[in-house]
Amino acid sequence: MSTPAISFRDLTLGYDRHPAVHHITGDIARGELLAIVGPNGAGKSTLLKAIVGELKPLSGSLDLQGLTKRDIAYLPQVIEIDRSFPISVFDCVAMGLWRKIGAWPGLGARGREEVVQALDTVGLAALAARPVGSLSGGQFQRVLFARLLLQDASVILLDEPFRAIDTKTVEELIALIEHWHGEGRTVLAALHDMEQVRAHFPQTLLLAREVVAWGDTKKILTPTNLDKSRQLTEAFVTHAHVCERDEERETA
Ligand code: ADP
Repeated sequence: MSTPAISFRDLTLGYDRHPAVHHITGDIARGELLAIVGPNGAGKSTLLKAIVGELKPLSGSLDLQGLTKRDIAYLPQVIEIDRSFPISVFDCVAMGLWRKIGAWPGLGARGREEVVQALDTVGLAALAARPVGSLSGGQFQRVLFARLLLQDASVILLDEPFRAIDTKTVEELIALIEHWHGEGRTVLAALHDMEQVRAHFPQTLLLAREVVAWGDTKKILTPTNLDKSRQLTEAFVTHAHVCERDEERETA
C-alpha cells in the first residue's frame, strides 16, 4: 500500500463511554476515494466525526500521519447544518477561505475572484447575493461543495452528501468528487446508494458497528457481506434496547 493518510489501530469509538463502533484496524491510503457504507446506525458518521477530531477514541488509536485539522475538510449531514443564519451565498462560500486568508473581513480582490470561480464551478454564480436560507436543498449542497473547494484540503470527508438532492446536482457533485480524486486528494464519503458506490468509488469500507469488509468495492459489496452488515447492526440495536431496559429497571 502507498503512504497512509489515516491509520486506525484497534479503534473503538462511542458516546458517554458506550461503544458505538468497535475495534477498527486498517489504513486509508493517500489519494484514496473511499465509500463508507452500512445500515443506519452502523457507525459511519461516528467514524467521520472521530477523524475530524469531534470525538475522541474510547480506546485504540487514530493516526492522521502528520496531517492537521487544517488539512481536513468536513461536510456534516445537512440536518446538522443551521440554515437560518442570515448569510449570503457569496459569504457562505467565502468562509471556505478563512484558513488561508485569516480573520474576516480580510477577503481581497483575489479572494473574491476565487469565490466567484468556485460558485461558477458549482453553477451558482447567478445566485451569489441570495440568502442561503432561500435556496433549494440541491442548491445549498452546491454552496457547501463550493466552500469545500476553497478549503483546498488534502483530506475531504462527506457525510451523506446526496441525501434528498436532485439527480442533476448529484451527478455534478460526483464529477467534482472525481476531480478531487484526480488531483490526488483523499476523499471519504458515507453513502447509502450502492449503485452510486459501485459506479464511482473504487474502495469501500462496509461497517456494522465493526468492520464487516474493507477493500475493492467489487469484492466488498456482495449480497453476503451486505446481509451480514444488516444482521450485525440489527443485533447491536436489539442488544442496546435490552441493555437500556435493564438500566431502566436498575434505576427504577
Ligand atoms: P450511521 O452514520 O451509520 O447511521 P452513527 O454513527 O450515526 O451511524 O451512529 C452509530 C451509533 O452511535 C448509533 O447507535 C447511534 O444511536 C449512536 N450515536 C450516534 N450519535 C450519538 C450521540 N450524539 N449520542 C449518543 N449516541 C449516538
